[in-house]
Amino acid sequence: MRIVLLGAPGSGKGTQSQRLVERFRIPQVSTGDLLRAAVARGTALGMQAKDAMDAGRLVADEIVLDMIRERLGEPDTRKGFILDGFPRNLAQARALDGLLAQIGQPLDAVLQMNVDYAELSRRIAGRRTCSDCGWVVNLLTSASEVPEPQRCPKTGQPHRLIQRPDDNEATVAERLRVYEEQTRPLVDYYRRQGLLRSIDAEGDVATVSARVEQALSR
Ligand code: AMP
Repeated sequence: MRIVLLGAPGSGKGTQSQRLVERFRIPQVSTGDLLRAAVARGTALGMQAKDAMDAGRLVADEIVLDMIRERLGEPDTRKGFILDGFPRNLAQARALDGLLAQIGQPLDAVLQMNVDYAELSRRIAGRRTCSDCGWVVNLLTSASEVPEPQRCPKTGQPHRLIQRPDDNEATVAERLRVYEEQTRPLVDYYRRQGLLRSIDAEGDVATVSARVEQALSR
């Protein structure tokens, strides 16, 4: 199964990716996670990406595409993958098509996750991430929905939850603007290819997961 999750920041791509990883036993490939790891390691690529990320803008296509080419060349992606946060604009979508055509592994589905603007802002305000493994939880909903968090697979300790630096109000507004301007056109792009499946991604995690499952089994 080769899937793209398409949705604004806060639409639940990370959370649903985590569920799909368990369900299909295929890796989540999140360009945001890969970039944050590069920033944390202080690599040259990370230094180049950091300013754009802090400002809520897109990182240059060449940087992201190099990272994706390398990641999709790794053996664990042979049986499929979930792309989370990539592609983010038409140039990236076209480059991805070219790359997948070369390896004879076209996409199976693009899942559009629809969440209204006010709900996106609310979710982002409550979002916390484990600084060691990237596990995502939402403080606003976790008490009722998420089982007792497992230990961090990287450290063996309880997850160390932090708020992402770009989850502040000003940066979020810019990220949502960039989504509308650069990423939303991908909805039509993938609809024309017959790959688009749209779901209502509001509601609790279990309800949305059921919709994801149904949309992917169509
Ligand atoms: P995310 O975790 O997907 O919300 O991404 C966090 C930030 O990383 C974004 O606001 C961008 O600055 C950068 N980023 C992630 N994925 C991409 C991408 N495909 N293209 C360009 N920039 C990206």
